[in-house]
Amino acid sequence: MKKDLSSTLGNAADHITNIYGEDVFNLQTMRNYLPKDVYKKLLATIRSGYKLDPDIANDVANAMKQWALEKGASHYTHWFQPLNGSTAGKHDAFVEVDPQGNLELAFSGKNLVQGEPDASSFPSGSLRSTFEARGYTAWDPASPAFIKRTSNGAVLCIPTAFCSYKGEALDKKTPLLRSMKAVSFQAQRLLACFGKTGTETTPLQVSPDLGAEQEYFLIDKDLFTQRPDLMMCGRTLFGNVPTKHQQMEDHYFGAIKTRVLEFMIDVDEALWKLGIPAKTRHNEVAPGQFEIAPIFESLNLAVDHNMLLMEVIRRKANEHGMVCLLHEKPFSGLNGSGKHNNWSLSVPGMGSLLNPGKSPHENALFLTLLCCVIAAVDTHADILLASVAKSGNEHRLGAQEAPPAIISIFLGDLLDEIITQIEQGGANSSRKKGKMNLGVDSLPDLPIDTSDRNRTSPFAFTGNKFEFRAVGSSQTCAWPMTVLNTIVAEQLDIVASILEPAAKENKEKFNKLLQKTLHGLITKHKRILFSGDGYCNKWIEEAAKRGLSNRPGTIEALTALETNEAISLFSKYEVMSPDELHARHNIQLEIYLKELSIESETVILMTETLYMPAISEQLTRLANTIESLQKAGIKNGIKAATERINAIGKLYDCIPDQTKVLKKARTSKDTELMKKAMKELRETIDSLESLTDAALWPVPTYAKLLFLS
Ligand code: ADP
Ligand code: MG
Repeated sequence: MKKDLSSTLGNAADHITNIYGEDVFNLQTMRNYLPKDVYKKLLATIRSGYKLDPDIANDVANAMKQWALEKGASHYTHWFQPLNGSTAGKHDAFVEVDPQGNLELAFSGKNLVQGEPDASSFPSGSLRSTFEARGYTAWDPASPAFIKRTSNGAVLCIPTAFCSYKGEALDKKTPLLRSMKAVSFQAQRLLACFGKTGTETTPLQVSPDLGAEQEYFLIDKDLFTQRPDLMMCGRTLFGNVPTKHQQMEDHYFGAIKTRVLEFMIDVDEALWKLGIPAKTRHNEVAPGQFEIAPIFESLNLAVDHNMLLMEVIRRKANEHGMVCLLHEKPFSGLNGSGKHNNWSLSVPGMGSLLNPGKSPHENALFLTLLCCVIAAVDTHADILLASVAKSGNEHRLGAQEAPPAIISIFLGDLLDEIITQIEQGGANSSRKKGKMNLGVDSLPDLPIDTSDRNRTSPFAFTGNKFEFRAVGSSQTCAWPMTVLNTIVAEQLDIVASILEPAAKENKEKFNKLLQKTLHGLITKHKRILFSGDGYCNKWIEEAAKRGLSNRPGTIEALTALETNEAISLFSKYEVMSPDELHARHNIQLEIYLKELSIESETVILMTETLYMPAISEQLTRLANTIESLQKAGIKNGIKAATERINAIGKLYDCIPDQTKVLKKARTSKDTELMKKAMKELRETIDSLESLTDAALWPVPTYAKLLFLS
């Protein structure tokens, strides 16, 4: 019997195993609800991506319906990820009315496999005219259906891809799946060069994995509703850093406050029920900032799970009287929030291919993959950066405690040394001299987990995976991971094409060619390797010398998606057609412009309706004070009050002009001018914040927002 954990804590082991995956139509559930032969066919589809046998769709739908109804779900929805970066779906009840007018419970195979939501309200980036409203959702059997609950009901969510009538991808999932296919296929080719092919019946499957570390802020709901900037934009547009913020370095990994811990416990429960392997939770660098990291999973699933995780932490925060801020930079001057994307390639049963192996031969494969990733990131750093270019990241990247807008790779000392050795042509030298021979028996054993940490690197090798840290906290992982898969697929393709003929001949020839190939890759791409401090200004100069681009501005960063290189890259690996890519560029740009427009309008609104009235009230009060002081003849008091009224008055006088400049910039839609004007107005208001009576200040200050009681 399940124990009531709320009164006396029961056995946690029992509890976790009982609830884990409880609300997921997972393999275990499928086996229980499906006839054996149907289960087998479905499993084959899930495991190997074979097309679903249409004959079994009805059986699967029936089983799913039965299970969902038992779970309390009255409705089902095709859950998808439109290009606005959110999740969506319309709910349909499991009901039909027969010709006699009787209600019956229904959910057919067709209902499961395909849906036809109206696509016209989702951004298509001009892929589709508004009159071509039809969109299709297609079931993704690789991501299991799950139950979403509220206190009074539940709905069955079926993960789907979303495309237009003509079959163009209108979502984030479709290109992701295509990119996974591309990188898997090319990795298989490379593995085959190293003699790893699997067997005829079970060919080797390579799949990308993702572990997404999610950072977020929690603030009190009551305070949140008093700040139009947080409500409209998800970030503060005004506000001074409090006297104590993160300088004591006492928040990171610190004791978690009870209120937050209670929230975290609820979050973990909810995630476990959804089969999301939540593992790590801790305080982050800034006060009020936290992190949650589930255990890595197969990429497609991990992406869906991160979308769900963001939804769950928002909902649970609300239930606990708090608001979860997922914005990349909610508070100026404090640590921003990212979503480190830990990416690797793995083979079931073999683990990560980015694990330095036990034998020299395995190390040769590892180093080849490593060089491919280095080459990929160097070749297409601009596209990778474009995948994380957004308004929120513009404030975060390049600012303190965040990876810079210059893409570089951190490998750690040991790998740096090995890479240097390969570059210096270790082929002809013996290991004794500190050189090594690739792919032959003299290659040293690489100790695992030797990589040190470098928080400042946007792209770091961390033991058995790469960690792409520039991804923003509010972003879906789908898009940056689509780009990473595709650029790596290209390099794997290039290297496999070189090695394949030699791999069929003799080992010696292969080793020589491999050595030469890796030497070539390193020589060409080593400029991307950087182990120093990415926050330091010297790096900006050094990076420029190396020819690495630095594009902190979103609009400029996004141009990388419009180049011929990008168009042919995504077309060649069948990840996105030129039109599909163009659509993504358009939407990313459109979202950026809209966000800037909302922010600038909110700045004006807050200035005119909140700050100016408060400050003029302050001036009146001070004027009255001076009058009283004069009557009483309090000399020093008069002096102090006069100084203060002058200081405030001077700043107050700047506001009308600064507001005018911002309004003009808005009319001319000049984004740089808008940003500059917003910044100037903010500086004025923030200076006034420290001159105004605390009781008069119209919105909660950073100090109040950040230190949750
Ligand atoms: P941190 O980077 O904060 O030290 P961890 O090392 O615990 O955190 O790992 C962060 C994330 O990386 C976790 O989600 C973890 O499951 C994931 N991870 C670990 N190994 C791999 C791998 N081979 N591929 C992808 N992700 C991985
Ligand atoms: Mg990390």
